[in-house]
Amino acid sequence: MQDKIVIVGAGVAGVNAATKLVDNGYPGELITIIDMGKDPYNRLPEEVMTGMLGAGGWSDGKLTYHTAIGGQLSKYTGEDKAMELMDQVITNFKRFHPKPEEVQCSNPETEPDFIKPYFGLRLFPVWHVGTDYLSEIAKNWYDYLVEKGVQFVWEHKVYSIDFNKNEVSLANHNFAGEIQYDELIFAVGKSGIDFAQQLANQYELPDEPKSVQIGVRFEAPQHHFQKLIDISYDFKLYRKYEDKGVSLRSFCTNNNAAYVAVEETYGDHSYNGHAKKDPKYLNNMTNFGILMEINGIEDPFKWSRDVVSKLQLEDTGLYYSPSRKPSTTSEGNGVTVTPINWMQLLGVSGAFEGYFDYIVEFINDMKKIFPTLEDDWGVYIPEVKYLSPEVKVNYKDLSLIDFPNVHFVGDALSARGITVSGSQGIYVAEGVLNEMLESEEYNKKLQQQ
Ligand SMILES: Cc1cc2nc3c(=O)[nH]c(=O)nc-3n(C[C@H](O)[C@H](O)[C@H](O)COP(=O)(O)OP(=O)(O)OC[C@H]3O[C@@H](n4cnc5c(N)ncnc54)[C@H](O)[C@@H]3O)c2cc1C
Repeated sequence: MQDKIVIVGAGVAGVNAATKLVDNGYPGELITIIDMGKDPYNRLPEEVMTGMLGAGGWSDGKLTYHTAIGGQLSKYTGEDKAMELMDQVITNFKRFHPKPEEVQCSNPETEPDFIKPYFGLRLFPVWHVGTDYLSEIAKNWYDYLVEKGVQFVWEHKVYSIDFNKNEVSLANHNFAGEIQYDELIFAVGKSGIDFAQQLANQYELPDEPKSVQIGVRFEAPQHHFQKLIDISYDFKLYRKYEDKGVSLRSFCTNNNAAYVAVEETYGDHSYNGHAKKDPKYLNNMTNFGILMEINGIEDPFKWSRDVVSKLQLEDTGLYYSPSRKPSTTSEGNGVTVTPINWMQLLGVSGAFEGYFDYIVEFINDMKKIFPTLEDDWGVYIPEVKYLSPEVKVNYKDLSLIDFPNVHFVGDALSARGITVSGSQGIYVAEGVLNEMLESEEYNKKLQQQ
């Protein structure tokens, strides 16, 4: 039997799922992808989170290749399968890349002595696609899926899903309607976190316990960090305070042509970063998140949202530096942020409920191992990873416990990066394909042919 599949979200997870299906002969006409953003030919650079390839479409294009990075995957699939799925995602990005030979892998192998005893360094391979190519990749990928018959519905927001009637309700400014599905792949990413929460509440979906992931985006001239960048482009410094349930890590390091990007979630501003490949964007800056993982907070989602909302001033997030000014975006505009002085930093510390001290210590220790850094840095406050409540799913196909034809994938489930999101999408598609191959009706049809 071949089912009508509706995918909500044309992000990394949704697009990889559709690709796996059509690559394996699933009729594109039976797949509908709905996205509130735009197709890749009309998506604007400032539309950071929505449209073809979702947040991955304007990301830094770093494809991490390790199961300890980027959220949950191996817990569902096992280690070997997880790596195989990641290979498939990387292959897809290369396949639609205008210059696949430029996709390169960095794979640091030894932890340098100079970072000890202050930090550990997590070592893992990263494939670099480059932000500049993502738009071209998105177009090539989109054209392929369209050619295969996949139906796209752009600029329509799905605002409710009836899991009992198998019905998705969607609307834009001049249309509202419903679409029926047999299988639903829910892939709304971070920009759909509110919606995921709404469904979790409505259907009382059980979830897994989570930690808080919050911190700042740190920025400084690149030369201060060069000796570590030479060893690991996307270095991951980390440290742990086991007894306090807190660990910190540098997150998503961008270099050479590195820009800070504003993320808007729930109407609040937080910060992230991306790097450009084209030499015309070189600014010789480095930025990375200093993210704390805090365990044991009762309602981590609500706690993070409260902290982020307290860190807003004049409708933006905050910038603190002992000596610098906020940078510009790659389009040459100032990053939307409100500078604060050190007195106001005390308020930041209060908003973080004591946890800001860990970040201060992290920065002070970086000054020890990168001696030229001194006061030549700034922080954009806050950076946050809203780990939406991770709904409990069946590990075999990421389907909801009570609704086996509804599959949650990507950042809307438990991913925090491109390779894991894409892998989860492919994993679900494989489940659908296997089910199809096992179905009596399909086999009967095959025999009749
Ligand atoms: C600036 C930035 C840089 C990043 N850099 C990296 C990086 O270098 N490496 C890395 O691994 N990760 C990076 N990430 C994270 C990565 O982009 C995400 O983890 C990944 O895109 C998640 O994939 P997804 O498919 O789950 O969601 P997304 O890719 O976010 O896609 C979700 C899609 O769902 C749509 N949607 C949401 N709600 C609805 C709704 N109600 N109705 C219809 N459509 C809806 C959105 O429009 C969006 O297109 C970055 C993120 C940002 C913001």
